[in-house]
Amino acid sequence: MKICFVASEGVPFAKTGGLADVVGALPKALAAQGHAIEVFLPRYRATMAGKQLSSVAHVTLPFRPELKFATIEDGGQAAGVHPYLFNSPEYFDRDGLYQAQGQDYPDNARRFGAFCLGALEFLKRFPSPPDVIHCHDWQAAAVPIYLRSLYREDPFFKNVRVMFTIHNLGYQGLFPPSALEDLALPAGLFTMQGIEFYGKVNLLKGGIIYSDFISTVSRKYAEEIQTPEYGCGLEGVLRSRKDRLTGILNGVDYDDWDPATDKFLPMNYTANDLRGKQTCKAELLKKMGAVNPRLERPAIGIVSRFAAQKGFDLIAEIAEPLMAKELYVVALGTGEPQYENLFRQMAARYPGKFLARIAYDNALAHQIEAGADMFLMPSRYEPCGLNQIYSLKYGTPPVVRATGGLDDTIKDFNGKAGTGFKFTEYSAEALFGALQRAIETYRRQAAWHVIVQNAMSQDFSWTQSAREYAAVYERLAKSGVQGPAVGVG
Ligand code: ADP
Repeated sequence: MKICFVASEGVPFAKTGGLADVVGALPKALAAQGHAIEVFLPRYRATMAGKQLSSVAHVTLPFRPELKFATIEDGGQAAGVHPYLFNSPEYFDRDGLYQAQGQDYPDNARRFGAFCLGALEFLKRFPSPPDVIHCHDWQAAAVPIYLRSLYREDPFFKNVRVMFTIHNLGYQGLFPPSALEDLALPAGLFTMQGIEFYGKVNLLKGGIIYSDFISTVSRKYAEEIQTPEYGCGLEGVLRSRKDRLTGILNGVDYDDWDPATDKFLPMNYTANDLRGKQTCKAELLKKMGAVNPRLERPAIGIVSRFAAQKGFDLIAEIAEPLMAKELYVVALGTGEPQYENLFRQMAARYPGKFLARIAYDNALAHQIEAGADMFLMPSRYEPCGLNQIYSLKYGTPPVVRATGGLDDTIKDFNGKAGTGFKFTEYSAEALFGALQRAIETYRRQAAWHVIVQNAMSQDFSWTQSAREYAAVYERLAKSGVQGPAVGVG
């Protein structure tokens, strides 16, 4: 089948989070199974900076009062995947992907509308359409909205199906009603049955109702988002489409995340020979500023976007009893100022023990996965989560809250079986209990050896998940007519 991915980020071109890892890896896995995959991404300032790429098309975007124009560039075919970059300096030659100084760009609706229109106009240059356009998150949600409105009569797209994957329901692409005009969308879409949401334009909602199939990134999260607790106001919309909603777990790309080959580590290691892990730990603690590091003490790793979703307010609550223990915390992250400040304060309060780096640093992320003994993710919600899966491979059992993909990927350790430590209730006590269990287990060398071996033997490569996606594509390609046209009256 011929599948076109439309997404706002993808490794190696642009990344702020897990979406980029998925868009980097899933196409490769699908291509390896014989499918032809194109990936359509924006070209940001940092994307292949300074590199001259060959342009393969110029597209016209039907905005008012003036038409806009953009260039599509060839990102270079590799491993059977063909990336194309949407180059529009007016909208994308900026430092941030979505925001600057913590504030969303005010023209985000127009920017990603332009990107989605660019994808559709570009696809029309091919002799035949793709079987499925696979759109990711709100930034690509305008694709199904355009297909059901502006492009409704376009014969080129008549048999094209749209799959929409929600990587995080917390980001919906909410805009004032004036965004309809910025997006060149008909006013008739602004109804409760359409993309109106409490007086605003909600692009993610459009993605959910106008796509032919919806997925999210773990089975548990697919269930959770149909409830008021996790549905962010869209639970009713999601429930109304539940026969077209599934959860497919993210895989990980072990080409990038394997301690046996990881080029960012001071020493590589395997499950059979863990000596390198001790070296990684010693180097990490030194690098992060621990004086005369005590290697027998457990090091708890954190690598995260700092957002309310990630549950770090719980750490603040247990700071005192936790840091009274003989251990290290090694944290890396950036994000909302209140959490950045929290980590800075903890580092100042517990010097040499709470080691924090407020930065985005891919090499250090790898070094923490390897050098920490256990990995902490107390998320309030977690659609899939990748770091806990990387941790397994690096022999760094995760301590997680049993939500979303964290629950689906981690089995609680019972002394024999299990790969991590789980807690259910979102509370400081529950988190502290799980950390205590982890630390006690760490002290019992034989038990710790068992859990590390269990963790490292897990396989979350993309092969199985790619098959599940392909099964949905096939089902869609074979299915009959699209739903009714909407909102143009
Ligand atoms: P999310 O997509 O919600 O941010 P995931 O766990 O799915 O969470 O993916 C996070 C990805 O981003 C991982 O690959 C992780 O290593 C990376 N990451 C997050 N924060 C940082 C950081 N400060 N420095 C380097 N990599 C980071």
